[in-house]
Amino acid sequence: MTKRILITGAAGFLGSHLCDRFIQEGYQVVGMDNLITGDLKNISHLFKLREFDFYHHDVSKFVHVPGKIDYILHFASPASPIDYLKIPIQTLKVGSLGTHNLLGFALAKKARILVASTSEVYGDPLVHPQNEDYWGNVNPIGPRGVYDEAKRFQEAITMAYHTYHKLETRIVRIFNTYGPRMRLNDGRALPAFIGQALRGEDLTVFGDGSQSRSFCYVDDLVEGIFRLLHCDYAKPVNIGNPVEITIKQFAEEIIKLTGTTQKIVYKPLPQDDPKQRQPDITRAKEILGWTPKVSREEGLKITYEYFKSLPPEELKRSAHRFA
Ligand code: UDP
Repeated sequence: MTKRILITGAAGFLGSHLCDRFIQEGYQVVGMDNLITGDLKNISHLFKLREFDFYHHDVSKFVHVPGKIDYILHFASPASPIDYLKIPIQTLKVGSLGTHNLLGFALAKKARILVASTSEVYGDPLVHPQNEDYWGNVNPIGPRGVYDEAKRFQEAITMAYHTYHKLETRIVRIFNTYGPRMRLNDGRALPAFIGQALRGEDLTVFGDGSQSRSFCYVDDLVEGIFRLLHCDYAKPVNIGNPVEITIKQFAEEIIKLTGTTQKIVYKPLPQDDPKQRQPDITRAKEILGWTPKVSREEGLKITYEYFKSLPPEELKRSAHRFA
C-alpha cells in the first residue's frame, strides 16, 4: 500500500526538496508550513499533483491530520542567524512545543518520526571534526541560543519518546547545506555572496574570513535523510560534506564563479559565530553506506544558475539586509 508521509517545513529550502524526493519515490506527501520563513513558490509545482496535500498550520499548536500517516519528517524551523534574531520566540517554540506536538502525533498515528537537528548542537566546537559523541559548546543566552537550545531540547525529548514510549525515532544532525531554493535574503553566506555578486556589490565577509565551514549540496543531504529514515538506528547521525573551506576562500570561489569584478569587504564577526565546523561522517558511512557525491564546484554551478534565474525584483528586494 502507498505510504503516507507528513513533512513539516514543507515550503522551506530543505522541506521542499524532501517533498520532491518522496513524491518521486511514490509516497503520498502531506506538506505543512506556517509560511513564516517558507515560501509557497518552492512547492507550487506540487499543488496540481494528487499525491500532494498542503496544510497551512503552525506545528507549535496542536497538530491534526486525518487519515493514516506512516512517517513524519519534522523540518519546520527558522534556520539562519538573521531569523533567530527576528523571531527568537517562534524559533524556540517550533523546536520545543512543535517537536512535542509531532512526537505525540507520531505516537497517535503509530508513525516513525525523523527530526531535523543541526550541527549547531555542537555550538562553537572545541573538538574537530565533530562526531556524534561530542556534547558541544553552546552559549544558551547568546543570539544563536534560541536555535541551538531548542534543537538540543528537541533531541532530548525525541530520545525520551523513543526510550519511554518505544516510539520509532530518527535524529539527523544537518551541517551547512546549500542549493536551489535557499532564500536569497536569509543572511547565510552563500545566498549573501551570490546575491551581492549579482547586484554588483562587494561581498561581505564577517571577521577575517578564517572561520571554516563544510558545505553539502542539497541532493546529497536528501539522500542521507532518505536512508536514515529507512534504517534501524535511533541515535543522532551527522549528515554533511566533510570538505572544509574558510569563508574567505568560499567568497573567492563565488567571485570566480560569478565573474564579478567586485571585491571582498570585511565586516565585524557576529557574536558566537563558530570558528570551525566539519562533520565526522564515519557513522553515516557505516550505518547508511552514505557519502556525499556532489563536488562544491558542481553544486555551486547549479545553485548559481538558480539564483540567476530569479526575477530581478527579488534580487533587489534582498539587498536591504546588507545596507
Ligand atoms: N558570513 C559572512 N558573510 C555573510 C554571511 C555569512 O562572512 O554575508 C559568514 C558567517 O559569519 C559564518 C559563515 O559565513 O562564519 C557561514 O555563515 P552561515 O550563516 O551561512 O552559516 P552558519 O554560521 O550558521 O554556519
